[in-house]
Amino acid sequence: MQASDSVRRFMFEKLGVRGEIVRLEHSYQAVLERHPYPPVLAELLGQAMAAVTLLGTTIKYQGKLILQMQGSGPANLLVVEYDSKRHIRGLVNWQQGELLEPDMAKLFGAGHMAITVDPQDKASRYQGIVELIEPSLAGCLEHYFKQSEQLATCLWFVARDNRAAGFMLQQMPSTKMAEDDWQRIKFLAETLTDEELLTLDEEDLLHRLFNEDDIRLYESEPVHFHCSCSRERIEQMLNGLGQQEVESIIAEQGNIEVACEYCNKNYHFDCVDATQLFIEGDAGFHSITRH
Ligand SMILES: [Zn+2]
Repeated sequence: MQASDSVRRFMFEKLGVRGEIVRLEHSYQAVLERHPYPPVLAELLGQAMAAVTLLGTTIKYQGKLILQMQGSGPANLLVVEYDSKRHIRGLVNWQQGELLEPDMAKLFGAGHMAITVDPQDKASRYQGIVELIEPSLAGCLEHYFKQSEQLATCLWFVARDNRAAGFMLQQMPSTKMAEDDWQRIKFLAETLTDEELLTLDEEDLLHRLFNEDDIRLYESEPVHFHCSCSRERIEQMLNGLGQQEVESIIAEQGNIEVACEYCNKNYHFDCVDATQLFIEGDAGFHSITRH
């Protein structure tokens, strides 16, 4: 049995191709448990979680990778975040009662996909954007790689029965490989079935596809569902709203309730808490000053 909730890198030793296999089970279920999604969106969210894990694992930095799809269709927002501690969270917003088809352009209308590399060192923050012109998430991401990074990349995703999995092949930026080799590897990978991707352990999967190649398989790296929300962040957000706005909400509702959409955690601020926000609000926060 393969480990659930893990990502595993591998490398074709002689070809200059790297790859990854991701399997998500508990982390995917943790996301599905928090919001009931229609099947089409649950599947897309699982695929997006597998995708962000694959992409996030190739990047060497401390910080976050955010995959976001936005549009004006029946679904209007999908966000998945993955950080360098291999913590993942995600959600989808959609219009109740609308027809949901498993096609990116139909789901998000005239939408786009953004990939944000968000390191702790904010100076090197980077965002790449592509239109959702392919029906599948894998197709849209392959299009993104073609446009923005010029790294030949192939992706496969599957999500069903509370499990999500992904498989990636990518040419290394540093090596120039023969086109014949790349086509051969891709051709073999195309024979991978959804069932195999979900269930075969990594050694067996790679042996099944590429038994004639020398492949180095790295240690499995665990992935966890974790939400980065905190009372401190909500306080910063309220500080950003400004004292007048916060006071008017308190005057109207008696207190402030903020629910985290990712994990459903509820943050409660009564009028004393709210006053405190602005007394302590000189540590780099801006608040509205009254004259
Ligand atoms: Zn949260």
